[in-house]
Amino acid sequence: MLSGPSGVGKGTVVAEVRRRHPDVWVSVSVTTRRARPGEVDGVHYHFLTDAEFDRLVAEDGLLEWAEYAGNRYGTPAAPVRERLATGAPALLEIELQGARQVRARDGDAQLVFLAPPSWAELKSRLAGRGSEPPAVQERRLAIAQAELDAAGEFDVVVVNDDVARAADELVSLLAAPSSARTGA
Ligand code: 5GP
Repeated sequence: MLSGPSGVGKGTVVAEVRRRHPDVWVSVSVTTRRARPGEVDGVHYHFLTDAEFDRLVAEDGLLEWAEYAGNRYGTPAAPVRERLATGAPALLEIELQGARQVRARDGDAQLVFLAPPSWAELKSRLAGRGSEPPAVQERRLAIAQAELDAAGEFDVVVVNDDVARAADELVSLLAAPSSARTGA
């Protein structure tokens, strides 16, 4: 699975993977966050109310879930299980707490950390996103700092210096033989 700090470009790299390699299966997460302009329900996320999210948690319908910057995010379990049952890999794009939960459930899951070329670059990307108020950006930056410190927990670090190159590296990791690949 792919993790890494907010603003590092996980979404962009995964979008590039989808574009270049439509055969790669990517999990669609559920979230209580409101859709940003351009985001499509069922494509980028399944956008849920708090009550709907609570129900999924109560039904044990999520492989993992975490609260991140005031919203909840989770991976629907059934589609991932169905995909892995066919022997094919599944790519999850999730934050650190969720990555730890998946690892605890499945010791064979491969954890890929997407790193920024530098801290300065990450800061400017977060600021440049512009879709969030400064307070939210600050919050994401503080989380990003803690997430960068966790890079050592991951199996592989991919540096997002170039989106197409990082996407190809991720796909080649997915294609590499591994017993059960919940992710990259
Ligand atoms: P954003 O709001 O920017 O789309 O996502 C915020 C963070 O939530 C990102 O780090 C993203 O990778 C993470 N995220 C997205 N989907 C999931 C999920 O299903 N589970 C977890 N744990 N994190 C997720």
